[in-house]
Amino acid sequence: MSDPNELTVLNPATEEIVATVPAASEEDVAAAVARAVRAQRTWAALAPADRARLLRRFADVVDTHTEELARLEVREAGHTLGNARWEAGNARDLLLYAAGGIERLLGRQIPAPGGWDVTFHEPLGVVGVIAPWNFPMPIAAWGSFPALAAGNAVVLKPAEATPLTALRLAGLALEAGLPEHLFQVLPGYGTTAGRALVDHPDVAKIVFTGSTRTGREVMERCARLVKPVTLELGGKSPNIVFADADLTAALDPFSFLDNCGQDCCARTRVLVQESVLDEARALLADALAAVVVGDPADEKTQMGPLISARQRERVRSYVPDDAPALRGSAPDGPGFWFPPTVLTAERPDGRAAREEIFGPVAVLLPFTDEQDAVRLANDTPYGLSGSIWTRDLGRALRVSQAVRAGNLSVNSHSSVRYWTPFGGFKQSGLGRELGPDALTAFTETKNVFISTEGPAQ
Ligand code: NAD
Repeated sequence: MSDPNELTVLNPATEEIVATVPAASEEDVAAAVARAVRAQRTWAALAPADRARLLRRFADVVDTHTEELARLEVREAGHTLGNARWEAGNARDLLLYAAGGIERLLGRQIPAPGGWDVTFHEPLGVVGVIAPWNFPMPIAAWGSFPALAAGNAVVLKPAEATPLTALRLAGLALEAGLPEHLFQVLPGYGTTAGRALVDHPDVAKIVFTGSTRTGREVMERCARLVKPVTLELGGKSPNIVFADADLTAALDPFSFLDNCGQDCCARTRVLVQESVLDEARALLADALAAVVVGDPADEKTQMGPLISARQRERVRSYVPDDAPALRGSAPDGPGFWFPPTVLTAERPDGRAAREEIFGPVAVLLPFTDEQDAVRLANDTPYGLSGSIWTRDLGRALRVSQAVRAGNLSVNSHSSVRYWTPFGGFKQSGLGRELGPDALTAFTETKNVFISTEGPAQ
């Protein structure tokens, strides 16, 4: 039984306790929101250039703490050191990008007879951000920094297992000189602190990243207050490999093994054209055998552990011992290890091919032609990301248009750039984060008509 007043943070590579952290109650959330309401007024009253300057200073402070933040992410989330350093750099770069948007958050003038018509973007007020455990630092940053830049205060609830990097970011914001209580991090349980944040009438918007199941509940609760919500949910993304592709690049196993597969964009459905299926199988077998799994703090490690024993049990439930599969290796305990795995005889309608496993497990599925590839790619309730590998430009464009997902890449496995919009189709979510419209998403548009005909008589 977990203690309702406390969170225990485990190092998933050693199972040692890294920290215990008080868990916020409903009353703590209400008090934090009240403080945030006051801080937001001070913040929004600052000149845009002054807000931009403070966020740039925050970016500088994050930059000087990159190594500390990265090592904290390694300890609480089991990320490899290289990935965690990238994540701290991503948080810094997003701050600079968001700061650059503040003075460009422009309204419009619309021609209107009898007067001038102008639109303004006004901050929403207090934004509630709810984050998952798989990318604690980047997701804290993506939800919060554009919201701050747009003139809002943020109350962030990190996942139960991973509150530490978000807490440290909030501390660094204060060091940088951001107003007190503008960016608050409240560790706590989803069903207490998370729900309290969603239900609070003074929280103007919720940005939720997590499972589709919880996202559905969050959306229902937001609906009661007609509260806007951004949902970044699950995925089961296709990696579509045509016979003419660069097969070695296309079948890079880190397209589904990054972060031990705990990645909403992981390309876990490997769709391979039948004519190169044997070659693909051989390439994947060699690549899985070569993956270095182990201590995430070791610079040479390529894949760390799963987040928890519970997650490992869940992943195991998709991979029976006798399932035909290609397998790499993983250390024995302690630590929540699972070997890189590709299931080779799964049916497209089987559980492992349809459900988000959130571990280092992909399924290999053959297709016949372009039409069949698109049909299989779209045969999922999700639509977050995907890759298309071919040297035929026309085909790459046709398939990009036909696949229903928010973030596709052609001859690449990349998904996330802070300067491009990110989000899902179908049950992968609602709304977009990042990109040129990231700040506008945290504003209300107000239209004001100014009569040039003089005051009404
Ligand atoms: P989760 O849904 O269990 O929890 C996410 C967050 O919601 C946690 O902070 C949790 O405490 C909180 N929460 C739980 N119940 C709540 C409730 N009733 N009300 C309010 N908050 C509540 O998800 P998880 O297991 O932490 O994360 C894994 C999931 O996140 C995967 O499905 C993954 O695909 C998804 N994810 C999506 C993206 C994306 O951008 N689309 C990115 C990362 C992760």
